[in-house]
Amino acid sequence: MRTVLITGASSGIGAACAETLAAENYRLILCARREDRLDALKLSILRKYPTCEIHIMVLDVRDYEGTSSAIESLPEAWKNIDILINNAGLSQGLEPIQDGDIGDWDRMIDTNVKGLLYVTKSVSPLLKKSKTPHIINIGSIAGKEVYPNGNVYCATKHAVDALNKAMRIDLLPFGIKVTAVNPGMVETEFSEVRFKGDTEKAKSVYMGLTPLNGFDIAEIISFVLSRPTHVNINDLLVMPTAQA
Ligand code: NDP
Repeated sequence: MRTVLITGASSGIGAACAETLAAENYRLILCARREDRLDALKLSILRKYPTCEIHIMVLDVRDYEGTSSAIESLPEAWKNIDILINNAGLSQGLEPIQDGDIGDWDRMIDTNVKGLLYVTKSVSPLLKKSKTPHIINIGSIAGKEVYPNGNVYCATKHAVDALNKAMRIDLLPFGIKVTAVNPGMVETEFSEVRFKGDTEKAKSVYMGLTPLNGFDIAEIISFVLSRPTHVNINDLLVMPTAQA
């Protein structure tokens, strides 16, 4: 039975990964800041899959000390991590650079780039002990292209693209697989976070097309994880059919 640690498991893509992988008999370590949401997810998964083993870990990926000590102090039975899904992330503010908010920039850089690095550094020693180690980095179409007013978010996801390639080089000697999964538009709380709770603006993003949902991405991750040991899928771009 493989153990997967998922960051950003309290909603959207992370929560869908948790449910999909629970159905496939993975043990789950679910991480995010909102403990109530993680508890609710755990209960709902256990209702469907009563034998699923789930450990909740409340952490803010921006806090290196907190993240590394949470991982170091995992109970022994939960230290056999095979898979890390670096999923926690956000976009905030869609203004041209000259009008951008420094607080928004810091939150995106600290979460999407530094947070991903902090979690990876903390979990890597445990992954090195696994027989089937794998890191999945959730990037974005924004890591492949730049769109109007996407500036800093696009920069953070381009950084994830670079770090995905760098991890593959650095971790190759340890047999750790590394995969970037880069979604286009996925309907989650992401849009509401981007527009700071303005639900009308958040919904308007999806007008005129059917976006992906979290399970579309989770099913692809499940496929990536199911490949034999000698097969590594390096980089995937997954778009809604109607998104330009
Ligand atoms: P959601 O807003 O639904 O989920 C984001 C998750 O990240 C939440 O569980 C949130 O949990 C967690 N998170 C945010 N900040 C922190 C933090 N500092 N520490 C720990 N956890 C944090 O959005 P998605 O599911 O859509 O986003 C998941 C990933 O997918 C992100 O990396 C995003 O950039 C990427 N992506 C999303 C796309 C989309 O259109 N939705 C498109 C392309 C990529 P909590 O608030 O409880 O901490």
